[in-house]
Amino acid sequence: MFASNLDTALIYLKGVGPKRAELLQKELGVKTYGELLYHYPFRYIDRTRFYKINELMPDLPLVQLVGRITGKEMIGDKHKKRLVAKFTDDTGTMELVWFQSLKWVEEHVQRGSLYIAFGKPALFNGSFSISHPELENYPRQSGITGNLSLQPIYHTTEKLKKNFLDSKGLQKLIQYIIEMHINEIRETLPAYILEKYKLMGRKDAIVQIHFPADTKKLQHAERRLKFEELFYIQLELLYNKQLRSLKFKGQLFEAVGDKVNTFFHRLLPFSLTNAQKRVIKEIRLDTQRGIQMNRLVQGDVGSGKTVVALMSMLLANDNGFQACMMAPTEILARQHFASLETLLSDELVKIAILTGSTPKKQRTLLHQQLEAGEIDILVGTHALIEEKVKFKNLGLVVIDEQHRFGVEQRAKLWQKNNVPPHILVMTATPIPRTLAMTLYGDLDVSVIDELPAGRKPIETRHLYDSQRLRMFGFMKQEIKKGRQVYVVYPLIKESEKLDLLHLEAGIEQLRQEFPLPDFQISIVHGKLSNAEKQYEMQRFVEGKSQIMVATTVIEVGVNVPNASVMIIEHAERFGLSQLHQLRGRVGRGAEQSFCILMTGNKLGQHSKTRIDTMVKTNNGFEISEMDLQLRGPGDITGTQQSGVLELKVANLAKDQLILQEARNTVIDIFEKDPMVESPENALLKQYLDRRLRAIAFDKIS
Ligand code: ADP
Ligand code: MG
Repeated sequence: MFASNLDTALIYLKGVGPKRAELLQKELGVKTYGELLYHYPFRYIDRTRFYKINELMPDLPLVQLVGRITGKEMIGDKHKKRLVAKFTDDTGTMELVWFQSLKWVEEHVQRGSLYIAFGKPALFNGSFSISHPELENYPRQSGITGNLSLQPIYHTTEKLKKNFLDSKGLQKLIQYIIEMHINEIRETLPAYILEKYKLMGRKDAIVQIHFPADTKKLQHAERRLKFEELFYIQLELLYNKQLRSLKFKGQLFEAVGDKVNTFFHRLLPFSLTNAQKRVIKEIRLDTQRGIQMNRLVQGDVGSGKTVVALMSMLLANDNGFQACMMAPTEILARQHFASLETLLSDELVKIAILTGSTPKKQRTLLHQQLEAGEIDILVGTHALIEEKVKFKNLGLVVIDEQHRFGVEQRAKLWQKNNVPPHILVMTATPIPRTLAMTLYGDLDVSVIDELPAGRKPIETRHLYDSQRLRMFGFMKQEIKKGRQVYVVYPLIKESEKLDLLHLEAGIEQLRQEFPLPDFQISIVHGKLSNAEKQYEMQRFVEGKSQIMVATTVIEVGVNVPNASVMIIEHAERFGLSQLHQLRGRVGRGAEQSFCILMTGNKLGQHSKTRIDTMVKTNNGFEISEMDLQLRGPGDITGTQQSGVLELKVANLAKDQLILQEARNTVIDIFEKDPMVESPENALLKQYLDRRLRAIAFDKIS
């Protein structure tokens, strides 16, 4: 590939220079002409409509007016100077005010001339004014931006603004680049795809996204660029999947043997839901095909993912392989271990646990037993991926609560065996389809969309702080019936000190309302040692305490069927998926369960929507869709994978259709041209080769 002029460093662009070039890199991360060209506007302002001064009202957004400067005056002393201009049209007069760059304005703004003033009007002492308006000569000059009806607004920063790179300044630079280098913008999508989906060419799209001729063209441009962005993500994901399936043979789990049968017929205390059966069948099929399974199991809290995992692990054992299950926290690993032990009988398989706090001696023994193949199922935390941990013959890895593990960590597990083990990933929270397709687009997806029969839906209520006495009353009533109660407090790094104070005050109040010796309260938070946490949890699990006060450490995995009330303090500070996770800790037994969301008396609009959503529905998929709408994709999953989600133009909350089109197109391509070798796909092949080199595929494989 030869370098294009678009790879030129910005320092060489007219109007940039070393200082601004450095700033652009620091503040926006753009180094070259091309990179600045891909800094798209984040919104547009309709410049077709002109307001009259007598039409102005409080609370208008940005407006533009045509008028004449009829006066100019410097006001104030040396320290607090401002320039006030009178601006007049045929309906009245208003003020334009500057606090900065006074000299420049003084020189350049001409009395008597006609201008377009653009800005946000503010009402002050009964008359309107605009501070720091944009001024343009009227009528507008022509040029690329000449007849702009939609003015692009670019993301910029304070530092850039101080160096005259406000939105307008950036627009100017981008305009230069387009004027000089327009013909170097290359098409990246094959012609037949452009045709099939009626997509605008890339060159046009880039011009239109910066300087749209009208809203229709802008929509076309956006659609084209979104499609391209999503298409290439899918192309890469599915190509990697393809390569993997060609490269890795995959263990064969051919037979269902004694272990699965014994478990299923003799030990399993309930019958499986249809959804569980279906997913187990899918896993069965995957592991008989001779390629490595990479499957994501999505299911709402309480849908019974653990049993599915266990049966898959037993299947591995039946075929002479070991299996392991990895959880993101020590507590969760112990919970899994405990529930697997209850489900299994001693003779069936040998199961062990390995975490960061496993004592050295025991660890050494474990290592030996693993290598000798004496352990069938190993449960643990990240400690499992350490290099020292070697298996004799690892056939299946189950990763629970996937969102906390990065792709890299997943990959490390593959290397635990010559033939990489099958991978089963289980998410704790359902995620919207678009996110799943993007984050886990290289995995096959199974959904457990059914809860075990007989579950009573959890009733959720919202109470304000001022209704706290009602909450205590309700707690007492439920505890009297023999139930247990969780009380959860937020603990967020940024406000940790204050949160801990709230937690302490809350505990204090609970102790007064629920005095010893009749009531016991367990307290669990991140500041405790593992042993202390363990001890406190155990008291609650055994029913020795009626109330468990916790920060979000119990967010994942605790299973105490007798706990039927979940109280969430400062619920407005939790995200939707967190609230849903927390609520999922109750509703596990036969009793009617409740979730009470406590909030301050004043709620912002988003907080109110979140709380209302929780009260309205128990469906995790619905909740995750709402979460996506409210927060956007970046925040939904953990930080580890958000890189994939830093999309430039596409929006996973809104562009589901385009995503689906893009994905279907890619699936089509791989069906017809598995190795992307046909001439019509040459552009795609180039891209993939470049990407593969860039990400050093060796690391993953
Ligand atoms: P999650 O999907 O949240 O991980 P779990 O696997 O922890 O859910 O299951 C939640 C509870 O439901 C556990 O107590 C489990 O034993 C029980 N359970 C799972 N499947 C069934 C079923 N088919 N019928 C009845 N109870 C079930
Ligand atoms: Mg679980």
